[in-house]
Amino acid sequence: MQESLPVKQVLAVKNFMANPIEEITLDGGWLCLDFTNTVSGRRPVKGEEYLRTWDDYILWVRRLAVLPDAEFKVWQKMPPGDMDEVRALREAIFELFDYHAKNGKIHPAHLDTLNGFLHEVYMYTCIKLTDNGLQRGIFKKTYLEKPLWIIALSAEALLLSDRLPRVKACDNCGWLFLDTSKNGTRRWCNMHTCGSQIKAKAWYHRKKEEESRKEDLR
Ligand SMILES: [Zn+2]
Repeated sequence: MQESLPVKQVLAVKNFMANPIEEITLDGGWLCLDFTNTVSGRRPVKGEEYLRTWDDYILWVRRLAVLPDAEFKVWQKMPPGDMDEVRALREAIFELFDYHAKNGKIHPAHLDTLNGFLHEVYMYTCIKLTDNGLQRGIFKKTYLEKPLWIIALSAEALLLSDRLPRVKACDNCGWLFLDTSKNGTRRWCNMHTCGSQIKAKAWYHRKKEEESRKEDLR
């Protein structure tokens, strides 16, 4: 079977005028997981980079509504930050959850970068009385790093929750997703893209096996 481009990449090629951040499917099911899915794929190797510039990052923060509207308007006008820092947190979160998805345990060294960010975040957090009762949040003032802090807190919440075993890596593209299926057997990030490709490959291999069995009987 000829290897074809993952559907996500085909879509990106078709709509080459649009920024991939506008088109990317949001299959992670959790903020920090969608953040790791800002490359075209993770298998067999890391694919195309979608967070190339600070403007790409601004688009992503807006699309995922990481900040409330009013705050976003202030934040997007701030001088650009360091994309290496953005990608460093992303890759650290990916390694952490990807390793857990494949090995069923956390690698302690994978916590270092996230802990560095959390150390920073906690200086700015407080407990607030909201409409939903007491909640922990970050001070109202807009900081350049605030979206990254919110992403780091999202990773912390997922790590400490009972949903951690449900974080999986897609069999087809390697993107991370939270499996919310009833029996926890989902294997792909997206039914329409990777799911159909996996099914097509499985069908092809079954057909090949059947054919070779028939040949053996001849
Ligand atoms: Zn996938």
